[in-house]
Amino acid sequence: MKKYDVVVIGGGPAGGQAARNLSKKGHKVLLVERFDSFMDNNFSSAGMTLEPLKEFNLPDHIIGAYWSDITLQCTKKSYHWKGDSQKGVVLDYGKLKLFLADETIKNGGEVLTGYKYISKQVNDNSVVLTLQKNKANQTLQVEAKLVVDATGPLRKVMYDTKEAQPKMDLGSGTEYQIEVSPEIYEQYKDRLVFFLGHKWAIKGYSWIFPMEQNILKVGAGKVHLKSKDQENTDKTTKKITEQIITEYLKCDDYKLLDIHGGIIRYSNGLKDTFYNNKVFAVGDAVSAINPRGGEGIRYAMQSADLACVSIDEFLKTGTTNFDNFRKKWRRKKLFKWRLSEMSSQRMYSKYSDAQIENRIQFFHDNFGTDVLIDSLFNFKYNQILSRVFQFLVLKIKYFFKKERF
Ligand SMILES: Cc1cc2nc3c(=O)[nH]c(=O)nc-3n(C[C@H](O)[C@H](O)[C@H](O)COP(=O)(O)OP(=O)(O)OC[C@H]3O[C@@H](n4cnc5c(N)ncnc54)[C@H](O)[C@@H]3O)c2cc1C
Repeated sequence: MKKYDVVVIGGGPAGGQAARNLSKKGHKVLLVERFDSFMDNNFSSAGMTLEPLKEFNLPDHIIGAYWSDITLQCTKKSYHWKGDSQKGVVLDYGKLKLFLADETIKNGGEVLTGYKYISKQVNDNSVVLTLQKNKANQTLQVEAKLVVDATGPLRKVMYDTKEAQPKMDLGSGTEYQIEVSPEIYEQYKDRLVFFLGHKWAIKGYSWIFPMEQNILKVGAGKVHLKSKDQENTDKTTKKITEQIITEYLKCDDYKLLDIHGGIIRYSNGLKDTFYNNKVFAVGDAVSAINPRGGEGIRYAMQSADLACVSIDEFLKTGTTNFDNFRKKWRRKKLFKWRLSEMSSQRMYSKYSDAQIENRIQFFHDNFGTDVLIDSLFNFKYNQILSRVFQFLVLKIKYFFKKERF
């Protein structure tokens, strides 16, 4: 049986970043991914701002396209924000995963694809993991001092049964990657389009993101009412996606390159277990994804970096301050994530089309591109709060003036 300092299960952005990070620090690492290739299961739209490229030192070759503008398309009207320069990117999600795995190998770590985590046995000083080869009965056992659960929404390693998991909010998304004519691509090549309201989205939002020349990602995401709802949700998101392609893009002769999709399982209030019995969980496995926009790659990687601080400390000094990871993450994120939970519940489940339209109109009349990007991606609301405060002060002044006369 091969022995490692750390075995990371799941080769998404969280697992890849954890393996890259720990191998760079000189620890003996194995990264395990159930798919045969990192280019399989290419489910994420992978849109983000420019900051994560620097934050995680990501290379140009994994970028599909840059964007500068944002359009919010509501049921009746379209609102456009023009950027004065490049504001973000759409990554090739498969290439991101492959890059992180390659970095792990370069740093001296090992990568095992086509093997699925099956079970764990926790001993006094180690954990023995049983892995199973894809489409075969062949199993393999490996031993590690610590394990990282980076299996995303499935949380396969942390919880031995589904019942042990906290209550989750559920959602899923479908995305078509299509090749369109140069004329259509030209219109969407440098902007993100988000659809809100019941005409183009149901209990969620839809999107068009640019990729390389003549390629667009078009998709829709929806929250589920019940866990059994996923099949119906997938049918709805497929229907909306096709409606956007044919009616909004007015594109009948597109070439379908790929259909993919994924699920989101999110614990309100971040009640996930972050560490237990020699297992750390990172990324979507601890609800790192932003519950309003579904942006998760940056936070999956940030959570991996934070968990790696405790893991590295333990491997170097034997210190077991494992709860620091949960405490620090919640201190940094809980308030922002709570705000996001509230705003997503209102936007996707409560507001009528007219209410959505009013809010977007107000935002469009009062705020520019950078404030929109800050509020959508960076949880920065300073300018919005100060404008709302000014507005309230004016209203109060007006009220007292009226009372006097
Ligand atoms: C449709 C959709 C669109 C999205 N768009 C965006 C976007 O535009 N921008 C953004 O930032 N985020 C987006 N997200 C969210 C983002 O993709 C996730 O938050 C992010 O991928 C989470 O990373 P992770 O590594 O925690 O989990 P994942 O990316 O889910 O990776 C988990 C990995 O574990 C592997 N695995 C699972 N079980 C096992 C097992 N038993 N054994 C071995 N391996 C296993 C899986 O195959 C997978 O590779 C989107 C999500 C969806 C569903």
